[in-house]
Amino acid sequence: MAESKVARAASPDAASTSFIRHAIDADIAAGKVPHTVVTRFPPEPNGYLHIGHAKSICLNFGIVRDYPGALCRLRFDDTNPTKERADFMETIQTDVRWLGFDWGDRPRHASDYFEPLYDYAVRLIETGNAYVCSLPPEEIRAGRGTLTEPGRDSPYRSRSVEESFDLFARMRAGEFEEGAHVLRAKIDMASPNMNLRDPVIYRIMHTPHPLTGTAWCVYPMYDFAQALSDAIEGVTHSLCTLEFEDHRPLYEWFLEKLEIPSPPRQIEFGRLNLTHTIMSKRHLTRLVDGGDVNGWDDPRMPTIAGMRRRGFTPEALRDFCERIGVTKNEGAVEFELLENCVRADLESRTRRAMAVLRPLKLVIENYPEEGAETFEAPNHPADPTLGTREVPFSRELFIDRDDFMEDPPRKFFRFAPGREVRLRYACLVTCTGVDRDPRTGAVIAIRGRFDPDSRGGRAPDGRKVRGTVHWVCARRCVRATVRLYDRLFRDAAPGRNVERLADRIDPDSLEVLESAVVEPSLALVPPGERFQFERLGYFTADARDHEPGAPVFNRTVTLRDTWSRRQGREG
Ligand code: ATP
Ligand code: MG
Repeated sequence: MAESKVARAASPDAASTSFIRHAIDADIAAGKVPHTVVTRFPPEPNGYLHIGHAKSICLNFGIVRDYPGALCRLRFDDTNPTKERADFMETIQTDVRWLGFDWGDRPRHASDYFEPLYDYAVRLIETGNAYVCSLPPEEIRAGRGTLTEPGRDSPYRSRSVEESFDLFARMRAGEFEEGAHVLRAKIDMASPNMNLRDPVIYRIMHTPHPLTGTAWCVYPMYDFAQALSDAIEGVTHSLCTLEFEDHRPLYEWFLEKLEIPSPPRQIEFGRLNLTHTIMSKRHLTRLVDGGDVNGWDDPRMPTIAGMRRRGFTPEALRDFCERIGVTKNEGAVEFELLENCVRADLESRTRRAMAVLRPLKLVIENYPEEGAETFEAPNHPADPTLGTREVPFSRELFIDRDDFMEDPPRKFFRFAPGREVRLRYACLVTCTGVDRDPRTGAVIAIRGRFDPDSRGGRAPDGRKVRGTVHWVCARRCVRATVRLYDRLFRDAAPGRNVERLADRIDPDSLEVLESAVVEPSLALVPPGERFQFERLGYFTADARDHEPGAPVFNRTVTLRDTWSRRQGREG
């Protein structure tokens, strides 16, 4: 056996996709890869990409990085004009690029090959491997049989090559209504594999196509278009999800009957499922169209666009795909793992800031009425290269309502009457009392006295002050809208019952706080900028609604996994 000149993979981080790399290496060693490895990512432009697609993207584009000269194409599977849209093609490209991948020259489309695909279909007719069937669609369906019963031959199966050839040409010419005729592969109506029971390979559709307009009114079916588009593009390894395993014999049948030299090889892997969300474009489309979420890029959506808007990073998504690996397993991955990847990435590189989500005023009685100063705060506790900022301070501050309790349990180390607490970066303050609404009696502000010798938050005598809270100066702060996002579904497996999916959206998955306050250093940040709001979580300036002077921050992820604890308490 001749040793192939094509180099094998030697990537140190290839472990997670090893079974596919081994198969490719074996094909190279066996001389089955003529020039170089070619893969493809073939999305149907009928919606936005989701995190499941990210797995396929990382796999297909990731693998070619390890083989010299290898490439991965982006090819739109645009064979059904009733569902597909040009704007989806745009967002898909944006998302693949944002994930950090590049398809070389221009994106490809199955529709680029409508002419050669048509010619291949004609070849199948000419060689007696396809025929025009004129049964109504219901009868074609009924004639396929079941898993336990064989199908019935169509009466048109024995139609002459000439007649099929003529009808197929007239189908293309637009002479017939939709459903009047289809082209079927002539394989085996008794095959135990239903996909081989004379599958339809072309149908009539009088719907304009987003790219080819009205040039065509016959469109190829998925299996035929995939196999032959792969062949036309010189794809060597066609990686797809496990539900196509039963389609592989059909994929290979087309390549064999059409005598494709160096045919591509299909290899299946397990699709990604993620808890607390749903991964099918069909169901996601229903949520979008029903107005149950705020569009495809709603930050609660499992779409790449939604995750980007929420503040997830491409690095975190790639890390996630690396960690879950590529196997034949289709069990659901915990949403928590994805969040942990996001935290791990953001921890080291986002700058810190202070924000108060539900403000409660703190008046420091022994601080001068007109006094004002600033405290220097590091932008990152461990990375001095991120610099420092000046945080303004005055007699009136805001703290979070959660950081005060009038009648606290012993282990509550935040503000309560008589208790001393550290204001982060600033000083130690003892709570001395509260102001009440005269009518309702509710606490509307708290009062305190600071220790003038505790500058920076250090106790002068080394006394122990356990609680530290964040704060924002009430006189020099910026009002902000903060959106607290959580998992779209409380149920870990919402896909089990997709009928009333919209009704099962967790109403708490979005909480909008209109009167949050942030430090003035955040007034002019650009959309998309990420922060850790100290003690609260990671937040991102919203890509759509955030404006300088009127900031809108999305919670990207909490600092710790508060979800499991919450579940534990409720469950
Ligand atoms: P959906 O069921 O969400 O509509 P799809 O498979 O119909 O997904 P396509 O646009 O046809 O969507 O998918 C493009 C590629 O992405 C295919 O190769 C498909 O196998 C892969 N893919 C889709 N969903 C997942 C997933 N959950 N995990 C891994 N790969 C996926
Ligand atoms: Mg599909």
